[in-house]
Amino acid sequence: MRDFTYLSHTRRILFAPGARKALGNELDRLGMTHPLIVTTKQRASLVDQLSDTLAHRDWTLFPEAAMHTPVAVTEEALRRFDACGADGVVSVGGGSTIGLGKALAGRRGLSHISLPTTYSGSEMTDILGETEGGRKTTRRAPEIRPTTVIYDVELTLGLPLGISGLSGMNAMAHAIEALYAPHANPVTDLMALEAIGVLAKSLPDLADALDDVDLRADLFYGSWLCGLCLDAAEMSLHHKICHTLGGSFDLPHAEAHAVMLPHALAYNAPAIAPVMARLVPLLGADPARALYDLSRHLGAPQSLSDLGMPEDGIAKVAQMALENPYANPRPLAAGPLTEMLTRAWRGNAPL
Ligand code: NAD
Repeated sequence: MRDFTYLSHTRRILFAPGARKALGNELDRLGMTHPLIVTTKQRASLVDQLSDTLAHRDWTLFPEAAMHTPVAVTEEALRRFDACGADGVVSVGGGSTIGLGKALAGRRGLSHISLPTTYSGSEMTDILGETEGGRKTTRRAPEIRPTTVIYDVELTLGLPLGISGLSGMNAMAHAIEALYAPHANPVTDLMALEAIGVLAKSLPDLADALDDVDLRADLFYGSWLCGLCLDAAEMSLHHKICHTLGGSFDLPHAEAHAVMLPHALAYNAPAIAPVMARLVPLLGADPARALYDLSRHLGAPQSLSDLGMPEDGIAKVAQMALENPYANPRPLAAGPLTEMLTRAWRGNAPL
């Protein structure tokens, strides 16, 4: 048995079909008398599904959450928060909405109840990425973690196939990288392996079962575990490259994850033989190729060029990876990195 350090964090998780109906009780538990409810314009109708549990309560809607948590939107939300006398935050939506909830609760040190509707896993983490003046910065702090998370699978039934698949691959990436993280421990290993198994079994069936509550509940369970992995373990090559692709080329978040994950795993494979051996029963004889095939099966974009990255971006991304060293099982070297990025840019299978 290896040595390890394990940190646990108190959060309250409700996981059940219809669990959104308990929102009122959860507000009372936290003593929240007037939440600011945040979501995106496109998903404002999700809040209608909370009308029963919010009946006879004070609340204010702020449906202006946006991708990459712009600070200007957070400041506008803070003005609304103060004007209506809110005393806590409820977020209903995907990672973009949860980001705004975290930004507000983190700044004011207030409770945050999150009802996620995608598989991003953001609701479980102490990580907040914010954009200002065209720059994205990421920070971690305990007060960023939502206080209570309500996983109601019924809120995910409208999630289209394309977004579901991409979001599922984004979740998978958190679990894969947790397996070779510097602070991996027996608990993160258990969560990651369980999550990868559940997602690998459920995602291929999604196209024919978009409204299947059991399958959607499995995906939600897997993505919850993936979020816990992201919260607990430091991420390596894959997440860092995706961060660069988003920050420098404005490539979409989940799409970049879907393209890069098979290639990042193939890059690290020579340095993580025991991890690869644990992935074989879950993904198949060639785990990196299996992720590439799964991503294609889900209809996800296959190449960085499809996502709009120019070819000369390959050298820039490789250079940025070499300039900002971070923990990664296989050392970063210009030649192999360029080769990996070229394959990802072209949409070739991972080597
Ligand atoms: P998102 O929140 O932008 O949502 C993606 C799309 O799904 C949007 O068009 C949204 O309207 C739609 N959608 C969401 N719920 C829906 C539903 N129930 N039915 C129909 N459509 C629905 O994207 P995401 O992939 O959930 O999150 C990505 C963002 O989260 C990125 O900004 C990323 O940086 C961040 N993120 C943060 C963390 C973290 O720990 N801080 C982790 C993962 C992702």
